[in-house]
Amino acid sequence: MVDNLIIAEGLEEALKQKTRNSAFLAGGTEINRLGSTVQARKLISIGRIVELDGISDADNAVKIGAMCTFQDIIDSPLVPDYLKEACRFMGSRTKRNMATIGGNIALRRTDSYLYATLIACGAKLELLGKDGETETRCVCCYLHHHDNFKDMLIKSVTVPKDALVFSKRYSNTVQSHAVLTVAIGKAQCKERALRLAVAAKDTALTRLDDIADELEKRDLSDAEILKMIEQNKELDFKADIYGSPEYKRYLLAVTIADLAKKVKEARR
Ligand SMILES: Cc1cc2nc3c(=O)[nH]c(=O)nc-3n(C[C@H](O)[C@H](O)[C@H](O)COP(=O)(O)OP(=O)(O)OC[C@H]3O[C@@H](n4cnc5c(N)ncnc54)[C@H](O)[C@@H]3O)c2cc1C
Repeated sequence: MVDNLIIAEGLEEALKQKTRNSAFLAGGTEINRLGSTVQARKLISIGRIVELDGISDADNAVKIGAMCTFQDIIDSPLVPDYLKEACRFMGSRTKRNMATIGGNIALRRTDSYLYATLIACGAKLELLGKDGETETRCVCCYLHHHDNFKDMLIKSVTVPKDALVFSKRYSNTVQSHAVLTVAIGKAQCKERALRLAVAAKDTALTRLDDIADELEKRDLSDAEILKMIEQNKELDFKADIYGSPEYKRYLLAVTIADLAKKVKEARR
């Protein structure tokens, strides 16, 4: 139960207040949700901190303040279309007006709207620690080594403008949780940088490097991709209302094949 609310006026105050059993209050869509996954006694509101706001050009990239909402991102003329598409996966306009990109990244949900796309484009995070030091980390590093970053404040997210990213989300209705969100991306400045990622509900939020590496070298059939998915221990799908493990593996395989075809055609 929350018994302390701090309205932070600046970055320093927000970081100083971040102790055990506390959470940053951004859009509040998860924190204030009935049955929320966030357990905290103290909330530190970061909504007034100007450094966390705004979307700006950064050479060949776009820098997005952590407090920008999904709707801010959709409305910005600077943001590349592939990220706007991922933001539109959040079907509710009301929620899009409140939910922030920083909050979504911090949650690391297996049905995340944004993670597959952010991984596929090679997004970078600017993180602030208690002692004021800034670290820049790729979103994969934040995801896989979260214990090192859990008390840090996400200040901004930088995404490349020229990345080629295609994504696909499967859910029963636009408002429902997604069973699968898949994205594949190629950052055009890198020599070998095909990135493939999946958010698989209650299963995994991960990069699929082995499949991406093979796709970089040659075309793969649906059956070959399916075999690689079957061998991936992280993708231990369970039967639930969204379907059987076999169905989910099949859906993921044909989706990857389809998205890989789109990347290939776009690169011609
Ligand atoms: C009905 C419903 C359905 C939902 N379905 C989905 C879904 O399918 N997929 C999905 O991805 N999300 C879903 N969400 C969760 C949520 O709406 C989004 O993930 C949203 O982007 C969270 O952002 P927020 O600003 O509201 O975060 P908050 O609720 O304010 O905070 C969430 C967490 O993020 C941390 N945090 C916030 N900002 C920062 C920061 N700058 N730096 C470090 N930590 C920070 C907080 O400490 C807290 O632990 C759903 C929510 C609701 C209410």
